[in-house]
Parts: sequence; C-alpha cells; structure tokens
Amino acid sequence: GPKKILEKRQTFLMPATAHFYRQPPQIVSGSMQYLYDQTGKQYVDFFAGVSVMNCGHSNPEIFATAQKQLTSLQHTSTIYLTQPIVDLAEKLAELLPGELKKTFFCVTGSEANEGALSLARLYTKKKGFIALSGGLHGRTHLAMSVTGIPMWRLDDQLVDDQIYFVDRPHNLEIAEIASMATSLAQLEQTLEEHGENIAAMILEPIQGNGGIIRYPKGFLKRVHQLLKEHNVLLIVDEVQTGYGRTGKFFAVEHEGVTPDILVTAKALGNGIPISTFSTTDQIATAFNRPSASTFGANPVAAETALRVLDYIAKHDLVQRAYQLGQYLKGALWSINSPLIKDIRGIGLMLGVEIQALNTKISAADLTDDILEEMKVRGFLIGKNGLDRNVLAFQPPLVIEREDIDQMLAALTKVLASKEA
Ligand code: PMP
Repeated sequence: GPKKILEKRQTFLMPATAHFYRQPPQIVSGSMQYLYDQTGKQYVDFFAGVSVMNCGHSNPEIFATAQKQLTSLQHTSTIYLTQPIVDLAEKLAELLPGELKKTFFCVTGSEANEGALSLARLYTKKKGFIALSGGLHGRTHLAMSVTGIPMWRLDDQLVDDQIYFVDRPHNLEIAEIASMATSLAQLEQTLEEHGENIAAMILEPIQGNGGIIRYPKGFLKRVHQLLKEHNVLLIVDEVQTGYGRTGKFFAVEHEGVTPDILVTAKALGNGIPISTFSTTDQIATAFNRPSASTFGANPVAAETALRVLDYIAKHDLVQRAYQLGQYLKGALWSINSPLIKDIRGIGLMLGVEIQALNTKISAADLTDDILEEMKVRGFLIGKNGLDRNVLAFQPPLVIEREDIDQMLAALTKVLASKEA
C-alpha cells in the first residue's frame, strides 16, 4: 500500500531523490495522455515526465517498435556498427536546422551537454563558458557549473572557475529579471574582457526549469552575432524544447537561429533514454579522439527514436502543439485570477506564475497547494521557476482539447477557492 512505498522510499532512496507533492501519487500505469495510480484513479498528465512523453505513455505504435527490436538485437555498444544508429543520425541531419549534419549519441541530457561543452573546448582551444542566470543544463559537474539556478548547484564542489553568467532577459520588466538591453550589455562586456578565453555560450532557447522564460524577439540572433565576433560558439540546449514541444520542431526555429551545437534528449526516445549533440562537419572534425557512451543510441533506443520521429510527422504533433498551446494559453488568461501574476511560453510549454495575495502564505506554498488540489481532481501539473511558484503545463502532445477543458474547469475552481 501507499504507506509501505513511502517507508521503503525513506529507507532505501537517498534524500536527494526529488518528488512533487506532499502525498506523491503511486503511478502504476500509463496510456497516452493518462496516468493511473494503484487505486485505478485516472490522472491527465500535464507534465509528461518532464517534457519526455511527447507521443504519450505506452503509445502502442512506438511500444511495438521497441518490443520488436528487443526481441532481435538489444545491445552491442558502438564497438560494432548497427543499422539503427546510422539511420537515426541521417534522419536527424534532415530535421536539424542549417548545416548541423553530424551527431554524437549519449543517454541523458546532462551527458549530452557535457559532450557539447567539451567539443566547444576542443574546437576553439579555449576553456571558459558563458551561461544565463536561470538556466539549467544538468547534474554532472560541467553541466552543473553552467547551470544558473542556485538550488541545482553544489557551489562548493564546482571546479571550473572560468564561467561567466549573464542575466537572462525577459519581456516583463519585473525587478529581478534584466531587460534585453541590460543582458546584451553584460554579454558584450564579458566578451570584451574574457572572450579570448571563452569557448562557448550555452543557453536554453526557452528556459524550462527556470520558470518557462522566453527571451524578447531578436535576443538570440543578437547573441549569436556577438559570439561570432569573438570566435565563441553558441550551444543551444533543446533538451526540454526539442521535438515539437513549442510548436516548432526545434525552438530555435522561432528565432531563425542555427546554433553551432544543438543538444537534445528527453522526448527523442519517448521514455527510452537517448540524447544527442549535433554540429557542423567542420566543428565535428575537432571531436576526433575515441569517445563512447556505452548505451548511446543502442539499437532499442535508436529504433524507438526513429519511430518517434515518424509518429510526430505522421500525426502532425508539431502543429498540434502550436494550436493546442494557443488555445490553452488564451483560456488560462481568461481565468483572470488575481493569483496569476504572469502567463508565458509557446506551444505546449506554458508557465503560469503564481503570486500570494497576502503574507500568510508564500507563493511557493500556494503553488504546492494548487498542485495538490489539482492532483486530487485528477490533473498532474508541473512546477518550476527560481521561486518554485510557476505552474508548468507540458503535457504529451497527443492530449485532447477535452482534457484541457476539464483541467481548466478544475483550475478555475481551485484558484477561486484560494483567493479568499
Ligand atoms: N537541460 C535541460 C534544459 C533540462 O531541463 C534538463 C533536465 N530537466 C537537463 C538538461 C538534464 O537532463 P538529464 O536529467 O537527462 O541529465
């Protein structure tokens, strides 16, 4: 029962293992946009295992492909060449923007970012990095070093001293967030002072964990220009935004920018771990020492990913994410609750920033209350932001408008009950 699972969790899992909810639901199965707990209760999943299950849980078509591959060849590592890894690399070259034609496969987002940063060092023969405040790039040490969210850093363990942070810009001029001009001025100054030692700047095209932050129009283009002037590469971390999430196949397409290195993970395997970093033929020449990720694009992961890419195209999930996102965003605005401070994002990557109306409760606790009550009503919403007060809506892209309408009705009631 639920008591037992919590006891085991306390006894055998490290305290750092993070969960949402004071009473975490015990999820035992999933089907497309739905999850089920041990009592059979159905939830509409609005977080998709952190932006992973774009094609839905146990999607029968994708599952069948994984199963077929499991029965023929499970794993060899890259020491033997298999068909799926080269087919997947070819398919990605077709889908990636610009001349990003060569891919290296690994397993997690952290690992792929680690590789991308390392490649930038090898290519430029420089060591330093620039990153944005509020960015999240992973839990390994280099990826953590360029992560700009205090709660995800172990500052006393980080070894890299040549890392420079620039304030993230935002469309809203709220106090803690820099305007585009401030942010660009900081970047110019950092490049003037340290550009000779900086290999790359890394950023998410839309910040996920930082609270669904979209930069003002033109920011990414200008950043890329400034970096080029100083021979600094642009690494874009599309770990959350890739594969249709934002209403474009990759989020950089909203800005017409092609980075030097593009990183993906999460949704590519729709739950089977696989990640990538991709670059141009020219930059790839620098990544020429033997390197391996034992599980990177193993046959099961690569075959599954190929089917995921087919499925996204066949069901037009990119356009669907855009349209359902427009609909959801408009409807969220029309709830018109004083507890809503801001609504932002694009496609099915939307954030609702929550504010408290008095000092009796923090915005973070209020957000947790809302999450908890939405869970009871059958809706699992995500949460992020530097102050953990942003409701995150990142459902499987196969979600139906009806699910969204039911969630909105519940959210309207929950918010109204909290206004008093
Ligand atoms: N980059 C971004 C943008 C992420 O959101 C995350 C994880 N949420 C990571 C990197 C790290 O990925 P992983 O947990 O697979 O290592």
